[in-house]
Order: sequence, then C-alpha cells, then structure tokens
Amino acid sequence: MTETLTHYINGERVEGTSGRFSDVYNPAEGTVIAQAPLASLEEIDKAVAAANAAAEQWADTTPIRRARIMFNYLNIIKQRKDEVIEALSREHGKVWSDAEGELTRGMEVIEFACGIPSHLKGEFTEQVGTKIDSYAIRQPLGVCAGITPFNFPCMVPMWMYVMAIACGNTFILKPSERDPSAPLLLADLFKEAGLPDGVFNVINGDKLAVDRLLEHPDVAAVSFVGSTPIAEYVYRTGTANNKRVQALGGAKNHLVIMPDADLDQATDALIGAAYGSAGERCMAISVAVVVGDETTDKLIEKLKPRVQALKIGTYKDSDAELGPVITKDAKERIEGYIDSGLEHGAKLIVDGRGAKVEGHEDGFFVGGCLFDNVGQDMSIYTDEIFGPVLSIVRVDDYETALKMINDHEYGNGTSIYTRDGDTARHFTRYAQIGMVGVNVPIPVPVAYHSFGGWKRSLFGDYSIHGMEGVRFYTRLKTVTTRWPTGIRAGADFNIPTLS
Ligand code: NAD
Repeated sequence: MTETLTHYINGERVEGTSGRFSDVYNPAEGTVIAQAPLASLEEIDKAVAAANAAAEQWADTTPIRRARIMFNYLNIIKQRKDEVIEALSREHGKVWSDAEGELTRGMEVIEFACGIPSHLKGEFTEQVGTKIDSYAIRQPLGVCAGITPFNFPCMVPMWMYVMAIACGNTFILKPSERDPSAPLLLADLFKEAGLPDGVFNVINGDKLAVDRLLEHPDVAAVSFVGSTPIAEYVYRTGTANNKRVQALGGAKNHLVIMPDADLDQATDALIGAAYGSAGERCMAISVAVVVGDETTDKLIEKLKPRVQALKIGTYKDSDAELGPVITKDAKERIEGYIDSGLEHGAKLIVDGRGAKVEGHEDGFFVGGCLFDNVGQDMSIYTDEIFGPVLSIVRVDDYETALKMINDHEYGNGTSIYTRDGDTARHFTRYAQIGMVGVNVPIPVPVAYHSFGGWKRSLFGDYSIHGMEGVRFYTRLKTVTTRWPTGIRAGADFNIPTLS
C-alpha cells in the first residue's frame, strides 16, 4: 500500500479531491512509496482564499510577535530534526549528512528571520521642510506564492516562506511533486510553533497549479526556483499579470584551477562540489577549468582515484557519500549525456554508468563520472546535466578561463583556486556571475546575505533571502507629515522644493 499525501490548507491537512495524483518514489529502491495529489483549480482557489483571509491580521501582528513564532519554530524543528530528514531523504535520496546540511541551511534562514523587527526598521528624517517630517516604511505585499524544485525540498521553500511570513505576508507553497512530504511536515511544525491558520499553506500540484497561482488576482508575488525554461516562463507570465516575480533557474558552475593553486585543496573542493548530492545542486561544480597541461595532469592524478572510490549508497548508509538521482528518467538522461560526451571526443576517465548498490539493485544510482578534454561545443559542457559528472576543460591561460565563464549562458556560481591576490581580485571583479568564490568550493551565501545568479540563472531584480528577501517581500511607502500649528502654507501650484 502506498501512502496518499495531502495538501495543507488553512492549518489542516486536507485530502486532494481532483482525482489526479503523481507517483512519489523512493529513488534508492526504485519503488513508488506515495501518491501526491495534484490540485484542481478549486483547491488552489481555496488555498488562496485561506491565505487572503489571514493576510490582514497577520500583517497587523507585531514584528516581535512574528519573531517569537520564528524562535518557537526553530526550536521545534531542532527537536524533530530526524523526522524531517527522514521524510526528505526517503523521497529525495540524498545521504543523511547532506540532508542534515540542507535542513541546517534552511534553519539559518529562520535564525535570520528571528531578527525581523530589526530588518524592517524604516528611515525617518525630521524637518524635511518647516514642521514637516518624512519617513519610509516597508509593508507586506499580501498573499505570496512559492514554487520549488525537487533538489532542496526543505531549504529552498524555507528561503521563501520563512522570509515572506516574517515580513508579514501569507504564503502558498507549491513544492515539487517528487518529494512533497518534508514540506508538509514543516507546515505541521509551523502550526505547532503558534502560526495562525491560513498564514502558511501547501498545495501539491503540477503546471495547472502553477498557472493558477500565476494568474490569480489575489496573489501579489511569486518566487520560483527550478530549471531555466520554467523560470523564464514563470517570470514572463507572472510579470504579465502584474505580479512581482523572482525566478531562479539552472546553472553550469565552473571552478578555475590556476597553476599556483593548492591542488590537494582543489581536489577536495571538486570531489565535494561535483559529486555531493549526486551533482543535483544548482551550485554544483560541473566544470573544472584547469590552466596548463601540467596542472591538469597533476590534478587528474589526484582526482581519478578519489572519484573511483566514491561511496555510493542510500541515506540509511551512514558512510555513503552520494545517493541515487531522483528518477529513472534522470538516470537515463545523465547516462545519455555521458554517451554523447564520448561520441563527441571527450575522454571518459571514470565511468559511473551502470553503478549498482547491493540490495538496492532497482535504485536510480549513477556513479561518479570524470571527463577530460571537454570542448566548449559539447553538450556535456553547454548543458546542465544535474548528475555526478565533472568535465575538465584544459585552457592555456587565465584570460581564456574567464572568457569561457563569461560566455556561458548561465551565471549562478563560480570559484577560483589560486594563491595570487591579483588574479583572485580580477576574477571576483570581472566574472559575470552572481556568486563568486576564492579558494572555496561552493560560494553559497549564508542566510543573512542573499542568494542569486546572473544571466539565465535568475529572472527578476531580486535575489533571495537576506535583505534582498526582505525587499522582495515588502514594498516601500514614504510618508510626509506636517503638524500645522501656527502655519498657513496657502495654495502652492509649484512642485514643493526645499528652497
Ligand atoms: P523544474 O523546473 O522541473 O521544476 C520546478 C518546479 O516547477 C516544480 O515545482 C514543478 O512542479 C514546476 N514545473 C515543472 N514543469 C512546469 C511547467 N511546465 N509549468 C509550470 N510549472 C512547472 O526543476 P526541478 O527538476 O524540480 O529542479 C532542478 C532544477 O532546479 C535545476 O535546473 C536546478 O539548477 C534548479 N535549481 C536552481 C536553484 C537556484 O537557486 N538557482 C536552486 C535549486 C535548483
């Protein structure tokens, strides 16, 4: 018997009524373990109505009270952490330590949101004119929606709903239909923390649900994280319907290794950043751009045995380093890219196709793959593979490496390994990329900074979480006041000036 999942509307788990369901797999077993309901238009409208009904009172709740609920929420998640990780990993497949890291990153957004009274403080200027004061405040937008990908079923939703709700909005989350159990559990825990009904709702669904949220007149803003074609679609459709939209898309992240780099550190970085979470991260490093043949050969000597030794396993396996990929289709797509790389002349140094884990023969496993001599025209270089595949591109100099990064359509993250300050400074200044690292493998900003790429990795003007998150989920109002005792201004037909 598979479990039938629900929606979460107005503080309650509610069964789906559309009659449409999507299979949820345990990717380590390759078996269907649950059915996620796919919402009908009426169900989405019900969730929007619940969020709308709760919006005014929640916006009027003082920021310090909202912060207290966030503190409670943090404590409850800490106590129930293992349950959340189990729900996450069973459907996603990522190994326990990685799932714990994901949840911790999400909890750091709650920690940041605990400071919301301070983040929402406005600006005040006394005496902008005689007896006139002016102040600027940030007010919530109303009902906000979030549409999230499968690869971070906790952290990415928390980037959105935690910030939106802290800012005084109500929220509807449409998580990935592939792993919806952890977000549903996070909704239960938020209620336990004292969140009023209707402030946070979770709707399971597909394109129908997304389209309804994008056109619904009562939805003020939409946050999206997922693949680039859908991000662009969400951005264009949402903005055409006059909504504020931030839509984060796919990536192809390069790590440059200079001849003066510490190659042991660079090897560690590549192993973790290319193969962690089976490469299913938008900040995964999928291209190593190595300057000089000598550096490349030395690096491969270090990398190859490490890739061969990667421990593949399930989330229950405490020493596993990478788990399965999300679906059978994803496995076939990744293996198709490997075939294509070979056909186009790249050299496959480590082949992870056909990886099997004992006792889990039907699991969607792909072992670590390492390519050398990858060309810029090959699909393994141009496309986001979203699997445990690292491509090495050999270049003669730093300028070629930088140009390659800047020419790529994506602009999410990049990093450079070097001991040279001038090169590092040049790189951080001129890389056309949203998140840049120096001697760090994955330059993912912490919760109080903001996360977001450039080029076709982000559509919209706002990055996510940190103060950019506060700005996205609020709108500015500037108030000018005069207390006119003893003043008679008279009618003035000119625009007011300070003269
Ligand atoms: P996806 O684009 O397939 O799905 C994302 C969301 O969009 C899901 O909720 C899905 O139900 C919905 N969706 C799918 N097809 C749709 C359609 N035709 N119309 C409307 N909605 C649709 O992405 P995914 O496979 O779940 O996640 C992987 C992708 O997400 C990768 O490209 C990865 O780089 C990207 N990602 C980006 C970031 C970032 O911060 N930039 C973070 C995580 C993941």
